[in-house]
Amino acid sequence: MKKKVALITGVSGQDGAYLAKFLLDNNYTVVGADRRSSRSDYWRLKRLNINNNIIFEELELAEINEMIRLIKKYNFNEIYNLAAQSFVQSSFSSPINTANISGLGVLRILEVIRNFSPTTKFYQASSSEMFGNTAEKKQNEKTPFNPMSPYAIAKVFGHFVTKNYRDSYNLFAVSGILFNHESPLRGEEFVTRKITLGLVKIINGDLDFLELGNIYSKRDWGYAKEYVKIMWKMLQQTVANDYVISTGETHTVKEFINEAVKYLDLKTTWKGKGLNEELIDLEKNKPIIKISKRFFRPAEVDILLGNSAKAEKYLKWKPETNFKDLVKIMMENELKYYK
Ligand code: NDP
Ligand code: GDP
Repeated sequence: MKKKVALITGVSGQDGAYLAKFLLDNNYTVVGADRRSSRSDYWRLKRLNINNNIIFEELELAEINEMIRLIKKYNFNEIYNLAAQSFVQSSFSSPINTANISGLGVLRILEVIRNFSPTTKFYQASSSEMFGNTAEKKQNEKTPFNPMSPYAIAKVFGHFVTKNYRDSYNLFAVSGILFNHESPLRGEEFVTRKITLGLVKIINGDLDFLELGNIYSKRDWGYAKEYVKIMWKMLQQTVANDYVISTGETHTVKEFINEAVKYLDLKTTWKGKGLNEELIDLEKNKPIIKISKRFFRPAEVDILLGNSAKAEKYLKWKPETNFKDLVKIMMENELKYYK
């Protein structure tokens, strides 16, 4: 049988790396797109030992011509749009770039598919951040969006334009509304990886203390390696549809820290309140985590918790890695790969 050809935008990112591995294992030809100005050295692809198996192409999402060139060169069966300015905090300092890449970037790809390759299936990486602060205890596909950051606003645009192109032009275009998903390959600026790496730096004497923002916000954290498989599954359905993917468990950042500390030979206790709250190393009698105003956001999403009943029913989605398993995987890898 002829090999399927897939394009992954954002192949150098966390999800791009895991998805590339999954598609290669499933006999796909994988074209991995990355921008010229990428700061990445493909460390994630190297960690998964797949950097020699991907056909790399340059793609800056701000430039529609680059997408046109790619779609004409390859007869893509599937396109996974994972590229984005994906960090909520940065979206407050670069809102226009975020809108251009994470919002308009989606429309550029859809326009190119519509004009040059309308049978190509399209996956858009939507986000639980689109829900923002909502009255609904658990968020599903019907929960209204209330985006709280330029990132989330751009994602809402990408989400609706994907639906609009599906409805208007009959494209097979779907959005996965994925709740936070983490792994040892997560970017160091996101809170889970910042914590696991920071703690390991501290016990190695390479960092005095870690500074964090709001440790009371709650997130529904899943395992990225599992989540990429469901992206693929969404494109294998007979009918194009959007799905919420989540674990159905939510935890504070502080709970994540408490769980992570268990993997280290440390005795700790929390002291103080508000900006003075600290995690103290009892043996050295010094703080190893402090709170800093710098990491608070102009607007915060206090809690996210997903309801994936639709994906459970139609995609047979079932998260296999719970919160504790996830922290374990991340801490064990951090300890293994540090230095
Ligand atoms: P990452 O930040 O790890 O990866 C983002 C990728 O986008 C990188 O490869 C980056 O390349 C690329 N990129 C950034 N800007 C551009 C641009 N202008 N043109 C082309 N490529 C660009 O994100 P994740 O892998 O964690 O997430 C994948 C997608 O899923 C993103 O769209 C994200 O917003 C979304 N998402 C993620 C969730 C999560 O918890 N991880 C939750 C819900 C949605 P470079 O190496 O050059 O920086
Ligand atoms: P997000 O949910 O996509 O914004 O993922 P993040 O990992 O960036 O943030 C998750 C939560 O952790 C948010 O509520 C942040 O406000 C909170 N948080 C607390 N301290 C920090 C920090 O130092 N860095 C980051 N990135 N987030 C922090």
